[in-house]
Amino acid sequence: MGGGESGAGAAVLAKVKGFDVFLSDKGRIGEKYKDMLREWDIPFEEGEHTESMILNADEVIKSPGIPLTAPMVEKISQAGIGIISEIEFAGRYDKSRKICITGSNGKTTTTSLIYYLLKNAGLNVGLGGNIGKSYAYQVATESHDIYVLELSSFQLDNMYDFKADIAIITNITPDHLDRYGYKLENYVKAKFRITRNMSSDDCFIFCSDDEITIEHLNRIVVKARKLPFTQKGEVEQGAFVKDDRMIVRYEDSECDMFLQELALGGKHNVYNSMAAAIAGKVMNIDNETIREALSSFQAVEHRLEKVLSVGDVLYINDSKATNVDAAWYALECQTRPVVWIVGGTDKGNDYTPLQPLAKEKVKAIICLGVDNAKIHKAFGQIVPQMFDVTSAEDAVKTASRIAVAGDVVLLSPCCASFDLFKNYEDRGRQFKDAVRAL
Ligand code: ADP
Repeated sequence: MGGGESGAGAAVLAKVKGFDVFLSDKGRIGEKYKDMLREWDIPFEEGEHTESMILNADEVIKSPGIPLTAPMVEKISQAGIGIISEIEFAGRYDKSRKICITGSNGKTTTTSLIYYLLKNAGLNVGLGGNIGKSYAYQVATESHDIYVLELSSFQLDNMYDFKADIAIITNITPDHLDRYGYKLENYVKAKFRITRNMSSDDCFIFCSDDEITIEHLNRIVVKARKLPFTQKGEVEQGAFVKDDRMIVRYEDSECDMFLQELALGGKHNVYNSMAAAIAGKVMNIDNETIREALSSFQAVEHRLEKVLSVGDVLYINDSKATNVDAAWYALECQTRPVVWIVGGTDKGNDYTPLQPLAKEKVKAIICLGVDNAKIHKAFGQIVPQMFDVTSAEDAVKTASRIAVAGDVVLLSPCCASFDLFKNYEDRGRQFKDAVRAL
């Protein structure tokens, strides 16, 4: 069920493994995936779910975008048919070592860092999950010794026998609670599914400064070797910060690196870099390669991505900051006066944690959304200048009028993008185009 990257990839793998496959999508299937299905001779339907076909299945592979509460999914469950995720399915046919990353923020960055690190070390590694080509498609068509997989909580929902060799939870802050009955506990449990089936030979890497992670970890049994990373104090095994250096300890080996040398700026990226460095040590990568990779990595698009300096005003695209925590880190790491572009579809945000940073650093706010009332209410008394715009172009033009040399214009919207844009990528690209047109 579902004919996007994940569903089409799973269908191809099922075909390769000799199953009688049928793909069903209630919405429209993209041309790219229709071509792929035709090429592999896989029957499919779009715009509907033919119940008789679906309920005739031995097993259903469900794409992560389809909620467990969708009527068809409920019918499948009632019929006693097993529902698994693409990752679960592909994991059955993949003997490679798997490094799996989940968390509320920092998944893509940490996953890409680890992939880059292992590639630089000369290993035969694949990148998948929420990024790029689906894991299932790669298992069907390529051969790798290692996979680095970004897993959202939706992907983890229908995983049962899958086992990661190295599992990472970057952090856990409330997000997507609408999919989890508005219960944080359910969301936390979904994230911790990444540690299922792990044995004492495996490693679990996590942020010990993250209260929600620690609280849950204290209540459950994780057999894997625990390797925390922290910016508060030292740890025997794992990673920590001492003075101006990051130190990683694994077994009896140590790797250290100046924070200044890290390619990615900001406190949050110190966490991401520490997580990646621990994974590197566990994978037996030498210290020089780890340092070299962490200092030469290029930021992933839309994540605190430096676009351009115009008249010594630096424009930063952090369109992927769709929640309060991500925007907090974006503001936290700014050292210059900020013109902040914020707004969009509010996911029930509480802006209070951002107020002290806004007071300290933000000289003007440009609200980029259809309904900006909550932003005005939260910051109107704190930030000297507030503006409302409804396009990326107007946001950039307004910013360029108020910013002076030495300022930074930061798009870190704190909200989803669907009120004015197709998605966060579209928002980020329109912002970059407008900056380049200045
Ligand atoms: P994800 O894949 O989990 O959405 P990304 O790496 O794409 O995470 O980053 C999403 C947003 O969160 C960006 O704005 C980024 O700057 C911010 N971010 C990245 N890492 C962290 C972290 N460890 N803690 C908090 N925010 C982070």
